[in-house]
Amino acid sequence: MQSRRILIVGGGIAGLALATALCRRALDAELVEREPRWTPVGGGIAVQPNAMRVLHELGIGSIVDRAGARVHHWLFRDQHGELLCDIALKSLWGEVGPFIGIARTKLHDALLAAALSCRLGVSVTALSQDEHHVLASFSDGIAREYDLVIGADGVHSTVRRVAFASTDPVFGGQMVWRSLGKLPGPQLDSVQFWLGEGCFFGLCPVGNGLTYGFANVTTPRFHDPLESRLERLRLRFADFGPLVRDYLDSLERDDQIHCTSIEWLPYEHWHSGRVILIGDAAHASSPMMGQGGSMAMEDALVLAETLDEAPNLPAAKEAFVARRRSRVAWVRQQSQAVSEMLRLPASVRDPALRESGKYRFCERFAPLTARP
Ligand SMILES: Cc1cc2nc3c(=O)[nH]c(=O)nc-3n(C[C@H](O)[C@H](O)[C@H](O)COP(=O)(O)OP(=O)(O)OC[C@H]3O[C@@H](n4cnc5c(N)ncnc54)[C@H](O)[C@@H]3O)c2cc1C
Repeated sequence: MQSRRILIVGGGIAGLALATALCRRALDAELVEREPRWTPVGGGIAVQPNAMRVLHELGIGSIVDRAGARVHHWLFRDQHGELLCDIALKSLWGEVGPFIGIARTKLHDALLAAALSCRLGVSVTALSQDEHHVLASFSDGIAREYDLVIGADGVHSTVRRVAFASTDPVFGGQMVWRSLGKLPGPQLDSVQFWLGEGCFFGLCPVGNGLTYGFANVTTPRFHDPLESRLERLRLRFADFGPLVRDYLDSLERDDQIHCTSIEWLPYEHWHSGRVILIGDAAHASSPMMGQGGSMAMEDALVLAETLDEAPNLPAAKEAFVARRRSRVAWVRQQSQAVSEMLRLPASVRDPALRESGKYRFCERFAPLTARP
């Protein structure tokens, strides 16, 4: 496609990866981010090998590799620590790339360093389009015309609301508490899911002596006030094994813990005229495969490639959707299946994990080893 004026809305994983991918193909884009400062929430994140493959193509794979921790195994344990299933990640992913645990701020820093300049503290408030342009209005009172607008503004996307028949996210029946702490002893080399009844506690090393802890509880949505949040979290997981308790003991303050409800989109929207959605804005799903960030990065890379290579916008959109839809649908469907499996009573779930957990796990992730 010829040189175009492109607006990216949202400076999360999807928006920054797209800005970088476009920049590397000499396609100019402007990025606006609603927050006045970069404050990625959620503590840590698993950057899986298919995401590392994208980051290497964007030229920042080695930075992320060095800034995080390499993870070699994915373990499921019961709540006391007994091993139910151990998946060696190298045998699953082969040469696709390493599996990295990393603090979200470090991942953001790496993406930010490679992206173009961004306008912070500015959000899109309205969009209108005709055959030739999209007019975007911003919260600072400015309005500008673009050839293409990409909504990378997350599960509660404004772009989706103003440019598409609105789809509100639905509550997934789970609440999650995420934090970074310091486990005593040597750094883990595995991501571990300790499974209880209607809840689990996850641990993932993220480098620099830090561990990412994520506590997940099946429950109706509720507000968990900041005051005494740590005490309540410790109580909730008091019956769990030593590693989980050690992790919770390492936390010092309520404000180290970010609490959120899990939400996803019941329907996907990909494009409408000159507006395209990527990442969570398009297809937020249950996070149980830890693939949301990977899908956002893959979207970004594939969109940059198709915008660069296709002769016109309709062809680029068609090629983008053709390369992404079934892969994203697979992840959504499999994440939902994992979510349902984890909610089963331990008496059913644990024997199933012992017997066929490894096989099922590999079956779920194997299609993602191919390049998108
Ligand atoms: C509990 C949990 C654990 C997870 N764990 C993992 C994991 O281990 N690995 C993994 O790969 N994925 C994981 N995910 C999923 C992953 O976090 C998301 O899929 C990913 O962050 C999506 O990136 P995004 O850029 O599409 O959206 P976001 O990260 O939501 O970024 C959107 C950006 O847009 C900005 N914005 C919003 N509205 C506007 C506006 N109107 N104008 C301008 N800017 C705007 C926001 O401020 C934000 O910066 C997890 C998710 C959850 C909930």
